[in-house]
Amino acid sequence: MYVIATRNEHKLRELREALPGVDVEPLPAAVELPPETGDTFVDNALGKARAARAATGAPAIADDSGIEAAGLGGRPGVRSARYAGEDASDEQNLAKLVTELEGAEDRRLAYVCALALVGADGAELVVEGRCEGTLAPEPRGEGGFGYDPAFVPDDTGPGDLRTMAELAPSEKHAISHRGRAARALAARLEGATSS
Ligand code: IMP
Repeated sequence: MYVIATRNEHKLRELREALPGVDVEPLPAAVELPPETGDTFVDNALGKARAARAATGAPAIADDSGIEAAGLGGRPGVRSARYAGEDASDEQNLAKLVTELEGAEDRRLAYVCALALVGADGAELVVEGRCEGTLAPEPRGEGGFGYDPAFVPDDTGPGDLRTMAELAPSEKHAISHRGRAARALAARLEGATSS
């Protein structure tokens, strides 16, 4: 059994789907998670997984994710959820990214997800998943969340200009940073239990 150090139902569901056969449980409500103040996705994911494991004694998994714009030197990065301010909405963060990249020559974007696992014995394992893309000419689509209406993934092919928010959930999952990181973690867990 693994405790998932998140309050986000969406992430819990995605991780359950990506880790078939692994018993993953939500974090007990009383456990406090540390603020995401690290400089990297890995630091933040590890901080949450360590805190969850310390509080419960159970092995714990945590994630941290965000978007990097090449034309902005990698911003907003670890600040993606708070880009337009501490309590900014997804819409406000998306609008800020579009404004900051107006006229930018380099329109490349990348989603990044770090997943950290801290075992009952304290052993740590970290994996990362990336999804490369470009800024859409204008935000489109109702699916997904966050920056998805502005993100045209490379993996759907050069002739396909649909944004992440226009993909079916299964299509997004197959190419997304979170899907990739979860599959990498699943492979490592299988390796650890079969060897
Ligand atoms: P956190 O991992 O909960 O800190 O959230 C990171 C932030 O990055 C989210 O609030 C979104 O703004 C953005 N983000 C992470 N993953 C995705 C995604 O799959 N689609 C769109 N935005 C995302």
